[in-house]
Amino acid sequence: MNSTRAGRNVAGIGMTSRRTRARMVERLREQGITDARVLEAMAGVPRHLFVEEALASRAYEDTALPIGFGQTISQPYVVARMIECLVQKRDAGKVLEVGTGCGYQAAVLASIAAEVYSIERVRELLERARANLRELRLKNLRLAHGDGAAGLEKAAPFDSIILAAAAPELPQALLRQLAPGGRMILPLREAGADVQRLVLVERGARGYTETALDPVRFVPLLAGKA
Ligand code: SAH
Repeated sequence: MNSTRAGRNVAGIGMTSRRTRARMVERLREQGITDARVLEAMAGVPRHLFVEEALASRAYEDTALPIGFGQTISQPYVVARMIECLVQKRDAGKVLEVGTGCGYQAAVLASIAAEVYSIERVRELLERARANLRELRLKNLRLAHGDGAAGLEKAAPFDSIILAAAAPELPQALLRQLAPGGRMILPLREAGADVQRLVLVERGARGYTETALDPVRFVPLLAGKA
């Protein structure tokens, strides 16, 4: 069923239809994403609502697209890959996302996790995300304006933390706000090189363990609010 509000088509037609989205999910499967919860969430969230109208026809390509302010909506494969790492053999629980951007990944997370908090440093992007997310009515998602490197003390601890911007080192506040048994995934810049890699951090009984995963390319984690 189609529903149109504020001139936008939620159900989508042609290049923004559910069928086009199903093809995106099929590609994710071919690329090695296997978790049914992740695939189902990616099949459910209309990615075309999160990019500008002019780019809507490209919303289901496996590519990052501009969302303004020099920022990008993350590539579908990378969103799926990161969330899959967080939920492997467990539930996501209470999640903190750093870098809301247009709100797409927050919507995917909220379709999988019990509770999601997402923090963005650029106020205007946060407002845009709020507008993009409105019609999806995700009751378990809360947005906040702030510097995500400091985490979100009032809602901590988190079972899962996910960063959508590359950090130069592991943010200490986020390590502290990770619950025992919790997992954090982030793009980490390698010292002295223009290279980033996904890193999975697990908080166990005897401290934190780090696992280096795929090389990636993300916008940088920046300090302070804008
Ligand atoms: N999650 C988005 C990707 C956004 S790109 C998606 O679904 O596509 C990364 C975002 O991180 C940008 O919007 C940028 O403004 C934001 N960001 C960068 N540094 C930040 C910080 N310290 N705290 C919060 N947000 C930050």
